[in-house]
Amino acid sequence: MKSALVTGGSRGIGRAISIKMASLDYFVLINYQSNRQEAEKTLALIEEKGGKGVILQFDVGNREEVSKVLGGWISVNSNHKIEVLVNNAGIKEDVLLMWMKNEQWDQVINTSLNGFFNVTKLIIQDMLMQKYGRIINIVSLSGLKGLPGQTNYSAAKGGVIAATKALAQEVGRRNITVNAIAPGFIKTDMTEGLDEKQLRSLIPVSRFGEPEEVAHAVAFFASPESSYITGEVLSVNGGMYS
Ligand code: NDP
Repeated sequence: MKSALVTGGSRGIGRAISIKMASLDYFVLINYQSNRQEAEKTLALIEEKGGKGVILQFDVGNREEVSKVLGGWISVNSNHKIEVLVNNAGIKEDVLLMWMKNEQWDQVINTSLNGFFNVTKLIIQDMLMQKYGRIINIVSLSGLKGLPGQTNYSAAKGGVIAATKALAQEVGRRNITVNAIAPGFIKTDMTEGLDEKQLRSLIPVSRFGEPEEVAHAVAFFASPESSYITGEVLSVNGGMYS
């Protein structure tokens, strides 16, 4: 059964991606860290439309958990071929560097950058064997241009952008593509405290984006027809200069 793994699939952009992948007939592995209720809601929304999936709880930044939970699931479900991996889980801890606590640096890097490594390292082995795969990393405008108050987040996302380009060159011969999507301001819990009215003057299309608009870009990269596009970063930001 063709399957797609979405890290951080319980809420926001990850939920929209999970629903989109299910609509494209993928069995969806919905990962979350702590919010079981929201992960169940994602699965219910998928099942309402006749789709299928499973919920997997693990912290992408915890190598042992990734190996135990995700590796364990894969080893007993060999009929599922994970064709699409969406590295979406991410957090932000915004503060100027001079006031940044060590933990704020570590947690943000650990979730986005180490999380990318931990999950991708495990999944790519089968993709290499299958000679097929689509890896899509959700990064950020912040990782492209750097934003004040986000040195940790910009570094984590910038690191994933560089890793996307490097890995794309390693695995292209095996029909595996690796691309990144850099959203701008998208309406989710992560941007809840931001004032859209005030910020929309910075955005040419004059509004925040919807999670479904990011999911649409994921579907584009995930398509078998996108096989000649790899190592790319696609901005989904309403035209903000990046
Ligand atoms: P949300 O805060 O709404 O959701 C974050 C998701 O990531 C949740 O599902 C959460 O799980 C999960 N998660 C967080 N940490 C971990 C972890 N260690 N292990 C596993 N899952 C984890 O964020 P968004 O939907 O807004 O963001 C999704 C991605 O898009 C992130 O990578 C973010 O950096 C990026 N992005 C978002 C933008 C925006 O404007 N919203 C802009 C640019 C990039 P749980 O529910 O269990 O907490």
